[in-house]
Amino acid sequence: MPIDIQRLRALIRDVPDFPKPGIVFKDITPLLANEVAFSSVIDETVVHFGRGNIDKVVGIEARGFILASPVAYHFGAGFLPVRKAGKLPYQVEAEEYALEYGTATLELHADAVVPGERVLIVDDVLATGGTARAAARLVERLGGKVIGIATLIELEFLEGRKLIEGYEFFSLVRY
Ligand code: AMP
Repeated sequence: MPIDIQRLRALIRDVPDFPKPGIVFKDITPLLANEVAFSSVIDETVVHFGRGNIDKVVGIEARGFILASPVAYHFGAGFLPVRKAGKLPYQVEAEEYALEYGTATLELHADAVVPGERVLIVDDVLATGGTARAAARLVERLGGKVIGIATLIELEFLEGRKLIEGYEFFSLVRY
């Protein structure tokens, strides 16, 4: 059955002024709670990158973990957490990045990627693109090849695609 984007859209809730005044937060919890919508989002992502021979799937803390894990399972790939500074216990590679709201640092375990591995990056929202680009750079610094970047939601008006130009990018619901 073809995926019903309008149905997905109806399950994404706008929460104004969260976590800061002026931000409209895209709350995906109603979509995650819906078994048909959740599985179709995972399936569409897997089908899109199906010929990529993915070795590892990176999930970006925290909502990226939820989407990346089942994608990794479908591919028979490993899962790699990219986390905010100070959360990963072992040696890390770190990359500073700009968010839609503020700046932060992302980290990946220094031994997470075997050089030459093919890596897919998954998150919930592409806003300015800074987060996805930082994750891609971390993978590349460890010698991985970024096969693509996938997000459930793309905030097109922020033009995040420009920041990740050159990477294969896939999104399902666009605003
Ligand atoms: P950016 O680096 O600007 O592309 O921001 C993307 C990251 O911030 C993702 O990990 C999202 O989870 C989060 N994010 C940014 N804007 C929003 C938003 N409006 N609603 C929910 N999450 C957001």
